[in-house]
Amino acid sequence: MRFLLFALLVTPLWASDTDDRLVRDVLRELIEINTTHSVGSTGKAAEAMAQRLLAAGFAPADVQVIGPRPERANLVARLRGTGARRPILLISHLDVVEARREDWSTDPFQFVEKDGYFYGRGTMDIKCGDAILVANLIRWKRENYRPDRDLIVALTANEEGGDVEENGIHWLLKNHRDLIDAEFCINPDGGNLETKKGKKLLNELQYAEKGFLSFTLEVKNKGGHSSVPEKENAIYRLSRGLVRLSEVDFPVVLDAGTRAFFETVAVREGADVAQAVNRMLSTNPPDAASVALLAKSPDWNAVLKTTCVATMLQAGHAENALPQAAKATVNCRILPSETPAYVEETIQRVLDDPQISITPIENMELVQSPASALRPDVVQAAKAVTSAMWPGVPAVPIVSPGASDGTHLRRAGIPTYGISGIADDYDDIRAHGKDERIAATALYEGREFLYRLTQALSTTAQ
Ligand SMILES: [Zn+2]
Repeated sequence: MRFLLFALLVTPLWASDTDDRLVRDVLRELIEINTTHSVGSTGKAAEAMAQRLLAAGFAPADVQVIGPRPERANLVARLRGTGARRPILLISHLDVVEARREDWSTDPFQFVEKDGYFYGRGTMDIKCGDAILVANLIRWKRENYRPDRDLIVALTANEEGGDVEENGIHWLLKNHRDLIDAEFCINPDGGNLETKKGKKLLNELQYAEKGFLSFTLEVKNKGGHSSVPEKENAIYRLSRGLVRLSEVDFPVVLDAGTRAFFETVAVREGADVAQAVNRMLSTNPPDAASVALLAKSPDWNAVLKTTCVATMLQAGHAENALPQAAKATVNCRILPSETPAYVEETIQRVLDDPQISITPIENMELVQSPASALRPDVVQAAKAVTSAMWPGVPAVPIVSPGASDGTHLRRAGIPTYGISGIADDYDDIRAHGKDERIAATALYEGREFLYRLTQALSTTAQ
């Protein structure tokens, strides 16, 4: 705690215009470099960031643009510390989800400033993180900051999709682990400062994430002429299976982080919710009525349980023919304490029909990652910096229902914490969608938050 207070005291109390301008300029440059999977190149973005770091005085050996091919290259940069402790890795992905001009109000690959917001594909997910990490490296260089451990920044490819072999974190771990090996990792893509109608509610500290695994369910049939239908029908058979699946509920899992989440957040929602939380946390197995009440919120349901949901359906080949095949995609999000095999068995048991085949889509071995232990140094630094910047706002451990690059690192034994201090509104989530944007204040405060958090974790008091 002593080193932490020291770090907070030596930090200027608030943002300087220079650093705000810098982070905005870096974000502008990144937004205007297309990094989609279809026509984009993360290599171009990585090169542009490398040029900025070299211009700021980083040694060429500490700034590497590296990857399986130029269009999927990653940037790895290192701010040298005293080496008293093992490095911290800071990650953010460079690739973005596709965006079509005709869907947007403005050109998604033009940086547009309007009414206190910055618009463009990736402003929120997660070029804001890239820009912040680069701007902070440049600031530390300028301030001659000498951390007590190396700070490694990796800006990477293929987080949003594409060939997993070209996923930047996976590729770096496999081919150049030495470049990014660290005691733990901070991932701005894993957690936000959650706000509702402008009010700051909590700063997420993601210590685990659910695994992403889809299955293809398929029924085959000999088919025939639709003028002479038979009882046996691929569409009906699959549909009956899907209805059974829609009614299944996976068991509630309450680990330390989930308990902390419900203790700090749910109790703010009113007396009935507070009562349900208390009952759920003090009964074993958790009181069913309380769980049912809390699980009415899809967000909370996703934190409490593994979920599986039908997302795609495909069947038949002609209006006047009996279907020869019916196929559904079921997407599962698996809690860290449960295995893909268990989820597959559960689906099989619930479908209860050997004529419905079940095939996993993703590689089952690359689905799951363990939860990261809630390290006291990280938790305390997150709490201290959060309440110094936004008094009264708690930093709350969360399991995120979505998957991020933290999965690869946790599986490789590098504990990863998703936290950014970047404000995002619960009711207006535009990442992956149209007119993606970030509030200017969210970018600037996120920059300052990550600057202070990283310093708190890399400064030892004399
Ligand atoms: Zn992302």
